[in-house]
Amino acid sequence: MDFHNTNDAVTRRIKAMTDRIHYLKTNDLYFYNQPVEEMMGGAKVRVRGREMGMYASYSYLGLVGHPRINEAAKKAVDKFGTGTNGVRTLAGTLTIHNELEETIANFKHEEAAITYTSGYATNLTVISTMMGRGDYVFSDKINHASIVDGCLMSGAEFRRFRHKDMEHLEGLLKNAPADVAKMVVADSVFSMDGDIIDLPKMVELCKKYNAWLMIDEAHSVGVLGEKGTGIEEYYNMYGAIDIKMGTLSKTIPSVGGYVAAKEDIITYLRHASRAYIFSAALPPAQAAAANEAFKVILDEPWRIERLNENTKQFIGGLKSMGFDTMLTETAIVPVLCGQDNVAFEMTREAQHRDVFVLPVVSPAVQEGLARLRATVTAAHEPSEIERAMDIIGEAGKKLGVIK
Ligand SMILES: *Cc1c(COP(=O)(O)O)cnc(C)c1O
Repeated sequence: MDFHNTNDAVTRRIKAMTDRIHYLKTNDLYFYNQPVEEMMGGAKVRVRGREMGMYASYSYLGLVGHPRINEAAKKAVDKFGTGTNGVRTLAGTLTIHNELEETIANFKHEEAAITYTSGYATNLTVISTMMGRGDYVFSDKINHASIVDGCLMSGAEFRRFRHKDMEHLEGLLKNAPADVAKMVVADSVFSMDGDIIDLPKMVELCKKYNAWLMIDEAHSVGVLGEKGTGIEEYYNMYGAIDIKMGTLSKTIPSVGGYVAAKEDIITYLRHASRAYIFSAALPPAQAAAANEAFKVILDEPWRIERLNENTKQFIGGLKSMGFDTMLTETAIVPVLCGQDNVAFEMTREAQHRDVFVLPVVSPAVQEGLARLRATVTAAHEPSEIERAMDIIGEAGKKLGVIK
């Protein structure tokens, strides 16, 4: 490397990363950023000319490529083109945006909804708009990076409670001044571990300490509840969460993020959140696709049943082979490997036998908890899942992860 200043902190950071990646690539351990050449139905992809079983997708209900959703997107392009006239506040709002927000509000049993162009931006802007200097925000230790970044950006006092430890949360709430604004924020289903929050306890604590509750439903929409509407349905607690955040890029096969909440909160966000005011509107095709996808979920409940069966098969099978799948109860299935290198080697074994699965290593997860982060979807056939488990099992034996 030859930068103008060869040893400042930036140069060292870049070099450390470059070296790590070079090491992985030269040892055939690097499987990130691989281009998919073709989607072959929900459960398979073509990568490097090979047909691979997809076990790293967030398309939990297998909706990518759904004919109704594709058709809605194409119609929107014909009607509106591919872009908008700018930001929503000025000339960027299309009727399809308002339709989408109404669909989301209905789906989430809420008064209103607002959309943004990414889930990441949604968390950043919503948390930092609601909370500010002098306020207190309480966040689960393993919350998604976008939540952490939103909390930091808000300038509020940032308190992190041990993962799902409600006693710890209560202690922190108790210690905060009584008269300041407070917000508790957490994933509904944790994106690396697949476990589910204790919503009833959280709601109770928020009431007791007068705190707002914001929940990120990136991995619970289409996954939890018989109708797939998410965490409130799962606990039969409609109306319990103040701010229901979600993404349009996972079960919903589009891109973007949203918040569903009471009308006044949405009006406030529409006129105060910077990612809405200073960033262009969702493109018509993506808004229309998302709008149709929420309807497909309600029209095709069999997909949720399939997902639940497949999840049970996958977790049960891996556990019976002796893998530690941590506390997952959902379609996100961590296969614990331990050290980063073991996770990379497990990935290589699986990928060489056409199972597309990826590792999550430090610092994304705690050191020593590196894992394959496998996902299963409604699109998989039981026989395909069986085959993938066989391959992961053989890799685990070879590398000493299981006996
Ligand atoms: C993926 C994810 C996001 C970000 O959503 P994008 O739409 O991909 O930007 C936010 N929160 C959680 C928990 C996620 O898993």
